[in-house]
Amino acid sequence: MPIVDPLSADEKRMPYQLPFPKEAAHEIVVPKALPDDERVWVPQAEGVSFRPLCLNASSGYWMNLLRVRRAGILSRHRHTQPVHGWVLKGRWHYLEHDWVAEEGSYVYEPPGETHTLVVPEDCLEMITYFQVNGTMVYVDPYGKVMGFEDVFTKIDMCRRHYEAAGLGADFVDQFIR
Ligand code: FE
Repeated sequence: MPIVDPLSADEKRMPYQLPFPKEAAHEIVVPKALPDDERVWVPQAEGVSFRPLCLNASSGYWMNLLRVRRAGILSRHRHTQPVHGWVLKGRWHYLEHDWVAEEGSYVYEPPGETHTLVVPEDCLEMITYFQVNGTMVYVDPYGKVMGFEDVFTKIDMCRRHYEAAGLGADFVDQFIR
């Protein structure tokens, strides 16, 4: 049976005509997600930095590029909420799994998962786009809590770094929703 399309040709080309909900936040568009300015990368540990894209304080998650320029073990952590990752460059793996996330790979990390991130010796740089929901809890091999990160600790790190780097503490505000 043919589907009847009630819209005229003009209506099909028309932008949405109604106001957005007044509580809706503004969109974010980052023209250079991989920035030209090195100062946009926030140092996190020796050889490890992140580039914020969306720091969603109202929903408790963050989207960022994680960049690692050193080989070896980076962190052991547990997730309370799901994580989605897309490897843009290089590769990495977890001690707890036998797969390797390669350039172009998508990875889903379920809540309750605890893993130890490793970048191999022959990988000079890895960059992965991560959506991290909730809290990352840093643990020892037996689950003892060593620390945590959430969207609020990420925002704090950005503020401190951007202030020190000369971009101004409020540089981070464009990424916060
Ligand atoms: Fe993880």
